[in-house]
Parts: sequence; structure tokens; C-alpha cells
Amino acid sequence: MFLHSTRNPEHRVTLSDAIAQGIAPDGGLYVPDELPRFSPNDFTGLTELPDIASKLIAPFAEGDPLSSVLDEVCRDAFNFPAPLVTLNDTPGPAFVLELFHGPTSAFKDFGARFLAASMERIRLRQTTARKLTILVATSGDTGGAVAAAFHRRPWVEVAVLYPTGLVSQRQAQQLSCWGDNIRTFSVHGTFDDCQRMVKEAFADPALAITHDLSSANSINIGRLLPQMVYYAHSSLTLWRATGQSANFIIPSGNLGNAMACIWARAMGLPIGEVTLATNANRTISDFLHDGEWRPRQSLPTLASAMDVGNPSNMERLRATFSFDELLKQITAVSISDEQIKARIQHDVQSLKQIWCPHTATAAEVYWNLPAAQQSKHWILVATAHPAKFNDIVEPLIGQEVSVPPALAALLTLPRQETEIEPQLSGLRSQLQGVS
Ligand SMILES: *Cc1c(COP(=O)(O)O)cnc(C)c1O
Repeated sequence: MFLHSTRNPEHRVTLSDAIAQGIAPDGGLYVPDELPRFSPNDFTGLTELPDIASKLIAPFAEGDPLSSVLDEVCRDAFNFPAPLVTLNDTPGPAFVLELFHGPTSAFKDFGARFLAASMERIRLRQTTARKLTILVATSGDTGGAVAAAFHRRPWVEVAVLYPTGLVSQRQAQQLSCWGDNIRTFSVHGTFDDCQRMVKEAFADPALAITHDLSSANSINIGRLLPQMVYYAHSSLTLWRATGQSANFIIPSGNLGNAMACIWARAMGLPIGEVTLATNANRTISDFLHDGEWRPRQSLPTLASAMDVGNPSNMERLRATFSFDELLKQITAVSISDEQIKARIQHDVQSLKQIWCPHTATAAEVYWNLPAAQQSKHWILVATAHPAKFNDIVEPLIGQEVSVPPALAALLTLPRQETEIEPQLSGLRSQLQGVS
């Protein structure tokens, strides 16, 4: 299969090249020429994530060197579960899809691990002696997931840039606890500064001579494809048990996670409605309301990993669907910080569930569904473990959130990071080893 740029259907590459490049040379995002089609029965007998992953992703790798190693890549990437947990005391059948059982307790571990595993196979086929340098700007969760996924892989070095003081304490710990081939830069600036520095680094002639730069950005197709897998797995589980389609509510920012669900549905998985829960950043809900695409500055909210004013995956959606089709594909509901707080406080009592601020947006959307809708089978997507955001959650619920073992292990490691000013010159000299 070939993939092409959203900005030029003539620019076509196979999967390895799309993963290695991240973004197309014309600035577009890679999308498949055509989505493969499955029926639920094609997955009969497959119950484990790595097996479903191999089957689902295989058509995308057809004709590409990754094809012969895809099973290995999937076993490497999907080495932790995505359980579907039944919610009790809800008006209709409702479930939580827990995507936070990976090394850094957020769903981004799935994409980052698949990207690392496939980049490794791509890199090992090449005869270059130079190490790859991956630059990541992060507002909190991506940097930790990428650091964990690439840690101690001998062919690569990673530089993580995050804004000093603008991530949670535990996120900062997860960004800076690695050492070895991971370098963490605490940037005296905002997330936008971090992103700009990464862009400038890619355009810098001096770094081009000394470094082989790559990115692990969330628009990389190598992060999207694996995210389809837990939608396939959970919807098949529900379909096998009840014969019903699964309707999903997905906490969304850049739309990578929701995009994967929409593709999985278009590929024939038993998925019904896809509802996006956003925070106060209303770019998507406003667009679905009046058809005008108005990207804007992001607003800071309690669900900070979703503070996106210009969701980049919208380019993929709008390349795939007309506006009228899009209205049939998705709905979006914007949730305020006040609603997030009240929902966390309420559901710890009524459901015995502790939500992270992002997952709370999905729960709030669920409780606001009309009664007729609530009788359907809903899956609330839990994108992060609440212990990662204990500084927000614990004061609201008046109790401690127990820490999952993977996170607890990271919390004991010493922090290793370098503070830099928000200018390319500082980053460049750090990367080149001159001070
Ligand atoms: C990144 C992130 C989101 C938003 O996901 P998108 O793919 O950008 O829409 C939601 N919740 C958490 C916890 C995240 O880390």
C-alpha cells in the first residue's frame, strides 16, 4: 500500500518512508491511498492486542520492508494491556477503556512504543554509522512516552524539550528521570517556544551537518496506526459478548486518538458513534457548528494535554471527508474546568471511579447524553492514570490516589536535566557538545 500527502495525492511513499519522514516534504500529513476493509469475523480467534495489531496493520505495510517484521514490532509495542472495565450504577451499559497501563501511564505509550519498534527495524536496515537524534517538544505526556520507548536503544539519541513549571510535578519527573541516551531540556519558556525551537533545529544548517534529526511528533502515521488497535480490540470484545456496536467518547486535543477510532470504524470494526470530548479549547466544536475552520491560540485548562487551539490531525479528517460527511462522522462537546472538577468529585462518590482531568471530560459528556442515547453501549476512553495528575485530583477528592507500579518506579529515580533559554543557539550548543 502507498500513503500520500494530504496536500498532494501525487506524492506517494510506502510505510517505512512515511514513518521515517514523519511529515511530508510539502508539510502535509500522510494518509493511506485507500483504507483496507475488514469484517469482525476476520478477527475470529484473535483476542490479544499484538495479534489484532498484526492483522489490522498488515495491509498498511504491504509491499514495504516492515511487512516481514510486523509481528515482531507488534509484540514489542503491545506489551501491556488495554482493559475494558464495566461501570456500575450507570443508566445504560457503560465501560471504561483504560489506556494508562503502559510505562508512563498515558495512552501515548502505545503510539510511542510502536514508533520506536518500527523505527528500529527501519534504522537497522540502513548502513549509516551515525545515530539518529529525535527531537520532541512536549506539553507533558508525549515527551515521557517517547523517552520511555526509545530509552537505551543504541541507535538513537532523544532530546526532550518541555516548558519549565508548566507541566505537573510527576510529569516533570517522568520527563527527566531517564539519562543514558535521553537528554531532557527544561526550557525557560512556553510549549510554543519548545515547538518553535524544534522547528528551527530542523531548518538549521549547522545541525544538519552534525546531526541526523528526526521527530516523534503525534502526526507521525507510526503513532496513529497502533492507536486503532485498542479500538478494534475493545469493540470486538463488546461485539462478541453482546452483538452490539461500541460507541466511544474520546478526550481529544490534537485529534490523533479520535482519528484512529474513525479509521478503525471506516475499516469495518463494529464501532457506532464517535463523540469527541474537548476542554475549553473549542476549535473543533465551533467548526462542527458552523463549518468555519478557525484555529486559534490555546487556552490553559485543567486537562492540559488537550490544550490545543489548532488540532493538527484535522487536516487528515478534512482531507478524508466533506463537511457534510464529517457532521455524520463525529460530534464534539466542549467541557469547562468547572465541569471537570465537579465530575471528578461526583464520580468518585457515585461510581467509585477516580478520573484524570482529561478522562473526566469524557465522563461529563456521557452524563449529559439524552436518556435515549444513554441506553446504548458506551465506552469512555481513559487517556491517563489519575495519579499522574495527583496535584489536581487529590485536593478535589480529599484522598490520595494510589500510584501504579510503573509510575512508582520512575518517581524514585534521580532527575537529570539541563535548563536552557528559549533560543535555538542554546539547544544547538548542547546538542553539539560545546558550551
Ligand atoms: C495527548 C492526550 C490527550 C489528547 O489526545 P489527542 O490525540 O491529542 O487528541 C488526551 N488525554 C491525555 C491524557 C493525553 O496525554
